[in-house]
Amino acid sequence: MSRPTSIHINLERLCENFRCARRLHGGSLLAVVKANAYGHGAVACARALAPQAEGFAVAILEEGVELRAAGITQPIVLLEGIFSAADLGQVRDQALTAVLHQPWQVQLLSELEVPPAGGFWLKFDSGMHRLGMNEPELRWAVGRLRRRFPGVTVTVMTHFAHADGVSPGVLDPALTLFRQAIHGLSVRTSLANSGAILGYPEARSDWGRPGLMLYGLDPASPGQPVRAGLRPVMSLRSRIMAERWIEKGESVGYGGLFQARRPVRIGVIPCGYADGYPRTAPQGTWVGAGEDLVPLAGRVSMDMLTVDLTDAPRVTVGTEVELWGDQVPVSTLAHCCGTLAYELVCRVQRAARHTDD
Ligand SMILES: *Cc1c(COP(=O)(O)O)cnc(C)c1O
Repeated sequence: MSRPTSIHINLERLCENFRCARRLHGGSLLAVVKANAYGHGAVACARALAPQAEGFAVAILEEGVELRAAGITQPIVLLEGIFSAADLGQVRDQALTAVLHQPWQVQLLSELEVPPAGGFWLKFDSGMHRLGMNEPELRWAVGRLRRRFPGVTVTVMTHFAHADGVSPGVLDPALTLFRQAIHGLSVRTSLANSGAILGYPEARSDWGRPGLMLYGLDPASPGQPVRAGLRPVMSLRSRIMAERWIEKGESVGYGGLFQARRPVRIGVIPCGYADGYPRTAPQGTWVGAGEDLVPLAGRVSMDMLTVDLTDAPRVTVGTEVELWGDQVPVSTLAHCCGTLAYELVCRVQRAARHTDD
């Protein structure tokens, strides 16, 4: 048998989750497929969403080029923009839309002969203080582009500093700043990421930018019910490859972290941190095994991890296990490890991939 560790991607659920974003937000949607669609496979995901999505967003040029090569024809927005004038040729040849977040970029693009087909996307800093122009810069930019290219479409976007569960009122100051900044300008707008689509209807605008929720993950704190019927697209699965009994007092794995307080049946799973399972997962973290849940026992190593099967007699060599997915929500696992679902799904690499259409 070949190594049974694999990532399963359910594209039907991806499309359902997209419909859910549409129901909540309305308007047009940029499906955010940066970082290889949060580890889910950018080309497969973009192709599956192409009949529904008005556009796509990626972080960097190379990701946009990959989507064009795969036949994606919708607008593709580069959220991190360009790094220098040298990027412009490729941006134009591939018909990508670079977000302009600094005045020098506006200056550069205003010197083009013809404006980009998708118009211009400008980024306003509403309080994240990472990328984006302030109000005077934004007004200068809109004025400059409009004078140079009368009638061109200008879209102003902002990204909220709260991506997780949006508690009431927390985004109001950002929204107020945004509204002030575009007051009187005739521009299209793009505000909401998943957190705002799910929890802040005030931020609905011309273009929503759902990312995480397309993959069936809710950015709100784990333990809360997942909103809007989202279902996870990715599961990380494997099978028990070996088992052994150890005596009371013996330990398992590197550093002997797990010490048996009774005779213990240990199961070995061929999945480790090189496959994307977090090394920081604490003892006792649940792993789905058949119909049961079994606790992690011992440190996660690069290629393997070990679980305690003593109380799950049905689980044996060959039993299918789920490291995350429907049985073990990736958000819950991430929370136990002090991180977010975003990071865990982005990191999967080595495991074989099975994508269902
Ligand atoms: C990543 C990203 C998104 C999507 O965010 P989610 O929280 O995954 O929905 C939207 N907008 C920008 C600017 C981003 O960088």
